[in-house]
Order: sequence, then structure tokens, then C-alpha cells
Amino acid sequence: MFARPTHARSLFVTLILLAALDAAATSRPDASPGTPKLALIVAIDGLSWERLDSFRPYFEDGFKRLLDEGRVESACRYRHLNTETGPGHSSLGAGAPPRVTGIVANRWFEARPDGGLRSVSCAQQWDPAPVPGKPPLFYREVARDGRLYVFALSGEWERWQQSGEIGLASTRPNAGPDGETLVFDSPDAIRLFNWRHGRPEETFPPAATITGPGNLRVPTLADRLVEARPGARVVALSAKDRSAVFLAGRDARHAVYWYDRDTGRFVTSPAYDVNRGAGPTAAAVVREFNRTQAGARLVSRFGLTWSPSPPPPAGPALPVAPRDLFDYQLPAQGIGFPHDLSRDPAGYSAGFYVSPFIDELLADLALALLESEALALGRRAQPDLLLLSFSAQDLVSHSYGNESDENVDTLRRLDRQLGRLLRALERHVGREHVALALSSDHGFAAIPEVHRRDHPGASAGRLVNSERAVPNFVERLNRLLVDELCLPVGTRAIFGVEGWSLTYNRPAFPLRRVEGPCGPADARLEVGVLDEVLPRVITRHFAEELESVLPVALRDTWPRTRAAEFALNDLDPERSGDAFLVPRENVLMHWDPARGAGHGSHYDYDAHVPLVFWGGRFPAGSVSDDSTPHDVAPTLADLLGVALPDAVGVSRLRPEASSTLRPQSPRSRERRSEAAASAAGTR
Ligand SMILES: [Zn+2]
Repeated sequence: MFARPTHARSLFVTLILLAALDAAATSRPDASPGTPKLALIVAIDGLSWERLDSFRPYFEDGFKRLLDEGRVESACRYRHLNTETGPGHSSLGAGAPPRVTGIVANRWFEARPDGGLRSVSCAQQWDPAPVPGKPPLFYREVARDGRLYVFALSGEWERWQQSGEIGLASTRPNAGPDGETLVFDSPDAIRLFNWRHGRPEETFPPAATITGPGNLRVPTLADRLVEARPGARVVALSAKDRSAVFLAGRDARHAVYWYDRDTGRFVTSPAYDVNRGAGPTAAAVVREFNRTQAGARLVSRFGLTWSPSPPPPAGPALPVAPRDLFDYQLPAQGIGFPHDLSRDPAGYSAGFYVSPFIDELLADLALALLESEALALGRRAQPDLLLLSFSAQDLVSHSYGNESDENVDTLRRLDRQLGRLLRALERHVGREHVALALSSDHGFAAIPEVHRRDHPGASAGRLVNSERAVPNFVERLNRLLVDELCLPVGTRAIFGVEGWSLTYNRPAFPLRRVEGPCGPADARLEVGVLDEVLPRVITRHFAEELESVLPVALRDTWPRTRAAEFALNDLDPERSGDAFLVPRENVLMHWDPARGAGHGSHYDYDAHVPLVFWGGRFPAGSVSDDSTPHDVAPTLADLLGVALPDAVGVSRLRPEASSTLRPQSPRSRERRSEAAASAAGTR
């Protein structure tokens, strides 16, 4: 029952599909009868193809139906480095890798206006239009000693009462209503003061950040859809803000919601306008959902503990994780079933986030939105787009490992949620009017310590990237560079690492040498010295974890390897740093020195992900030619009659997507290019 289709059958199905779809594609006028009424991207955060395929016997509902009834592309691979959530979801949303979307990692370092460097989170942007008093709602005016103190930050007000000091005061001499000197604790205090006293507004450089798509460099499928078809509605949901934001995109008319770990409710941000597009109707549904099914209702609906689902009555026995995984799991909600979600140091709604219940809650909200007659998704003249990202697979795998019992239970539960989703789509829209693409933002690595234990001699390990771990990877590297270059003790030549992207501390250059084995003191070292010295230092001290380093300035000389191809697809001169590290297999860059798992590399366990198309226009079948998640948006755009000029992927409905352009698998191409590179002596 789980036999793979033969190659001949898959080729036959491909040819039939292509003939049928090519004919359909050539007759694709605006809003043709064949245009889907509802397109969906369903992302399963952290799900590799290998995990989906090997767990196939345990699926009975949604995953089973998608794999049995859908067009299953079994050779879908990312081709960019930093296989992480932000890059993956923006690739799915826009149909292009990070070098185009600009979302090069979950965080990166970029230049500050004053020439320094700052750490940036991918889904944080400057507040485009801060509204007085929102937030904060605090406001105090206090007259004292001929001055009028104005506070909009309660903490500053409390501090001032105790110490008489204000952190970042800004003053306006003799500008008060009675000629007093005004002292403000923040720009918000100035805005509120002017507003309350009927004075003209002052403009400030934006000071606050909000969650939003501002870092995205190109429009997404959703952006192009509402531009081409005004009236089309876009709704995006996820447990994670960045997943919802980057599946949706930049248009303020999109309704974009994610789970707030503090309150257990779904929230949005001022980057999206709740008064336009899908905004008002979606907001009403979400408000009612938060009141009746989320927030304070979570405990009574889901309980305090997460216990495994009962085993299936028939079918193969479930895989059982070895008990000795316990030493390598993160213990926030306890080790081993049952997990007490209220034990999370950040509280129950934060513990809930790291459980499969978060997927069920997301499915509940998706169904509430699909059922809404006011929103009427997929039931109006223009096609709509529903974007869903289920996060539990990723969150659970980070804590307990991709090979854990928790992971099995999470995917079995998600299987049922996807089944509910498919049935709701059939009920409210009709399968013939649906075009659904299921994929993932990245796969997952094994817990390295477990992998090494079970595979003696295999490469595996972790480099630690956390302020709490001393010394972490960047500190170790900086100390080694001090020795190598004869720098003053404490010199920080490397600013930081995010994913596998290393950022030099450019503002600190030129550096000055101290006298020693390198020669006399005071020689000036320019930043290019790092490009020279890093490969040597990495080879000498990190050979177990790292294969090589690829300095961006020397990219014309990079070997033509798979890792280099992945790095080039992540290259954004302002964001992706100064060098890419190439990890060995099963090596993580991780925040915990000994526990938990992760992802981010160019290896297949991170890059090879599912791609399944399901719905009216997709006959069942298996396609084994190369594809990439960058093809998702172009394929749906093709069906929706929307142009995606910034996309790099291609529509899987076009004949050239399957045969002409990609005759080889990435593995065979990699082997060939590595052979060619070593023959040419470039390695
Ligand atoms: Zn992810």
C-alpha cells in the first residue's frame, strides 16, 4: 500500500499532466472558468520530505489524502543557505530565494545610520506611522521647580519619582504654557503633549519597531493578486509572526494574524490595515474567536498537559524513540510524556506554543474564517488566497528532536487537522475550485549528539551562538584571531554570526597590531585581512565542525559546490554578512550548548522538503523531476492569472518546468561540478 510509483508510471503521469495543463494554460483569460476560487499555501514548519515520506504509514487523514490524491513532487529542494523560517516563508510567498527577497536569515546584522552595526529581526520594521499614545497609554504631566515634566513611559515616571533622573530626556526651554521649560521622557510624550495642548505635530525619525513585512524587497503572490484583482482577499495565519507576514507580503489590505505567546490570542500589527480589503471582516471573526476559543479559554479547551494520542487501532506499530534521548532534550515543559504546559517559565500560553495544540488552534481559526459568510473566502467573483503555516513540527523538534515520540505525535495530530481543513474546503468551496500547495520552509537535522552516538565515526556536533554560553563560537573565533594577527587582547574583529552568515566588525577597522611574532607594533590591518586569515583559522581550529569558509569579497573564486550555490542564493550585500561558513553534515549553529535540535544548512535533511499540489486542477500522481519551493508561488500565480516578474521559480504547470530546464538532480549536478572543480584545481 505504500509502494512508490515506478519511474515509468511517474513519467507517464507527468506527460499526461503536462499535456492537459499546457492546453489549459494557453486558454487562460482573466477569471476564466478554470481559475480557482480559492488558492492556498499550506506550510508545515520544519517538515522534511524524508520525514513526511517515512511516516506515510502512520497517516490516516489529511496527509494521507494529500499524498494519495495530490500531485506529489518528491524531489523538491531549497537551494539557499540559512534554511530557516523567515527565508523559507518569504521564498514560498514570493517565489524567489533570499538573494531576491532580502530575507537572508531569521536575524541579521546591518549598518546603523551612525556607522555602527545592529542586529535586526527579519519581521521587524520601523513603525511607518506611529499614533500618539498607542502604545503606550501612560501619560503624566508634573510641574516642579519651574519645569513641566511630561511622561509617556510609566517606568521613566517611577524612576524620576525615586531618583529625579530621566533616561533620555529631551527639553524645550521656556516652551510651556506658562513659559516653563518642558522636559519629555520620549518622542511619544512630545506627540501626546502637542496633541493634548492643540499644538502642531513635530516629526521625528521613527523610533519604534513593529512586526511587519518592511524588510521584504519584492512583492509576493498575494501582493500581485490584490493588485491585479482588486477585491481579492488575502488571509494569512500562523503561530509565528514571521511565517504569516512573509507568506502574505507587503500590501496593507492583507489580513495577517499570528499567536501571541503572552496572551494566547491571535494578533496583527499596524503594518496591516484592519479597515481595508479582508481587514474588517477578518478582524471581526478573529475578535470573536479570541473571545470564545483562545486566550483564557485555552486551558479549559485543551487542558494543562500534553499526552500522546492513542495508537491507531490498525496499521503498523508507531516508531518508538529511545529513552536515552532524554539527556539531549530541552526541558522547558518537562522531559517525557506527559508534558505539563503550565511548567513553562513564561506561563501556560507560552508552553501551549510548544505543543501540537497550537496547530489545532490554528486549524480552528482557519475553519472559522472559511465558515464566515461575511468573508466568503472562495465564494465570490474574485479568487481569494488563504495562507497557513503550522508551526508545531518546528517548535517540538527544536525542543525534543526530530526523532522523538513528541514529533510522531505532533505529525499524527497535524494529520487530523489537515483532514479537517480539506473537508472544510470541500464543504465551503468545493475541491474543483481549490488549488492548494503544501510545502515547508526547511527540514530538520537530527540531534547531533544522538546522531554521533548512533553513527560512530559520522560527523556531527554543534557550534554555540548564544550570549549565555561562554565562550560562544564568535568569542572563540575572536580570541583565535587575536593570536593569529597579534591584536590587542579583547579585540572584536568578528561582530557576530546569524545562521551560517558571519559579519565582520567593520566599524572597528583598521585594527592595530601589538608587537610580537607578527612583527612591529602599529601596523594597520584593513578588513580584507579577515578574508585571508579566516580559512586558515577555521581549518586549524574548527575542522570537526566546519568544512570551509566562503568570504563574500572573494566570491569569484568560490569552488563550484552545492554549498557555494546555496550561499550565492542567500547573498544580499547589505544583510548576509561578509562570509558564509560551510558546516559539516549534522553540525548545528545552536543556542544551547548540549540540548535540542535545529536546521539551517544546505544538506538534504534541511533542504529537501515536501511539495504537494491538491485541488481541482491537479490530478493525482507522482513527479520525480527536480522542483523547488520557489515554484509554489509561480504555479499558483499561473492558475490565478497573475504575473510574478520577480519570481525565480517557475510554474510547475509549464512543460519547461519539468523536463527541459532541469534534466539533472542537484546531487548529480553537485557531483559533476565538484569533480569538475577538483579537476580544474580550484578547491
Ligand atoms: Zn521554520
